[in-house]
Amino acid sequence: MPGLVVQKFGGTSLADIQKIKAVAAKVAASRRLGQDVVVVVSAMSGETNKLLGMAHKISKTPSQREIDLLLSSGERISCALLTLALHAIGCPAVSLTGRQMGMLTDSAHTRARIKQINSGRAKNLLQENHVVVVAGFQGVNEQGDVTTLGRGGSDTTAVALAVALEARQCEIYTDVDGVYTADPRIVADARKLSAVSYDEMLEMASLGAKVVQIRAVEFARNFNMPLVVRSSFNEGDEGTLIGREDPRMEQPVVSGVMYDKNQSKITIRGVPDQPGIAAKIFGPLAENSLSLDMIIQNMSADGLTDISFTLPTAEMAQAAEVVQKTARKIKAREVSFDSDISKISIVGAGMRSHSGVAAKMFQMLSRENINIMMISTSEIRISCLIDSKYTELAVRGLHREFGLESEASAESSSAPQPKTETA
Ligand code: ADP
Ligand code: ASP
Ligand code: MG
Repeated sequence: MPGLVVQKFGGTSLADIQKIKAVAAKVAASRRLGQDVVVVVSAMSGETNKLLGMAHKISKTPSQREIDLLLSSGERISCALLTLALHAIGCPAVSLTGRQMGMLTDSAHTRARIKQINSGRAKNLLQENHVVVVAGFQGVNEQGDVTTLGRGGSDTTAVALAVALEARQCEIYTDVDGVYTADPRIVADARKLSAVSYDEMLEMASLGAKVVQIRAVEFARNFNMPLVVRSSFNEGDEGTLIGREDPRMEQPVVSGVMYDKNQSKITIRGVPDQPGIAAKIFGPLAENSLSLDMIIQNMSADGLTDISFTLPTAEMAQAAEVVQKTARKIKAREVSFDSDISKISIVGAGMRSHSGVAAKMFQMLSRENINIMMISTSEIRISCLIDSKYTELAVRGLHREFGLESEASAESSSAPQPKTETA
């Protein structure tokens, strides 16, 4: 539908009734411009964490199926409230849960993937001139059980719907003006980027810039769906356009500095250095769908070696169990765990054609006496694993080192303030 936009509103944009009313007014204004609108909502700010907290007070290892049912309620609340707010200002609107929206996923509870969207009902409602308000982050599997798409998953709901309904673009409304050269809550003089390529955004999202969920960017790239990130509160700002790389433009060497504190490291020491040993260690982890990131194997001495790898802290408990079992089987000496680490990364499409970028990064860290535990690189990214207490120091230092500050940084009175709560 060429006149259709999908607008997604995050938790902070829906934090209270006043904000929900403001979102309703914004949506109604888009409609007055002649656009059809599908709105995707997150849970109200803090709600998802509150629900998770309650579950963890009952059990340390709650059933993932029940967690999904529990968490999906957060988005239902904001979905119904926003629809009521639209009615209150005379805008015809209908709310749809994931199931009602026809959002079919696989059965990987808490990190389900979308398999199919049966969008007939939404299309009919749009044709009848309704705004369709969809509860983000959720779907149902083949058995009809509720699933969720992973933290930040409403972004993915929005992009997937934009693709399914052939929208003109997908707009992600949030609490910052767009995608910045670094998290503006850590780097006060971070600069807003007016455009970013899908590839860069994919790297940024996977490296910790949680402003858009990685799978949403993947979806957008695969289907060439223009993605706009902009503020729910700052009317005048154009935001950031995420789209295809413009081949005519010179690519910046480094476009951003990212950090991820939610990483943990597992080290297996004294591993017999034999063919097939890595497969024995990583096979069971893959079977459990654990998402590993950096992996290093040291030089072996006396036929023994050490293997370290990182993964999201949320998956650490499950991974620890799997690894300890394997370690016993292969007769490794010991397994150790470290959660006080963080991954800092620099990203830039221009790195493809520039050398010396890594050296510059390492020099900056060395000047601050920050030890690098692991390094990994891709064509357009360099990541280093460091002690998490140096995260802010490293991010700010690298931002300065690569000259990413905004020109108007001195007078950036509108820079976002540290936030105390997330969705
Ligand atoms: P929402 O609730 O709208 O989904 P999120 O909290 O998921 O919002 O994402 C927005 C937050 O992402 C911002 O408040 C900001 O702190 C954080 N963020 C991290 N890195 C970046 C970045 N490079 N650019 C913009 N925001 C970033
Ligand atoms: N409410 C979910 C979360 O906090 C999904 C989302 O906000 O996109 O992760
Ligand atoms: Mg989000």
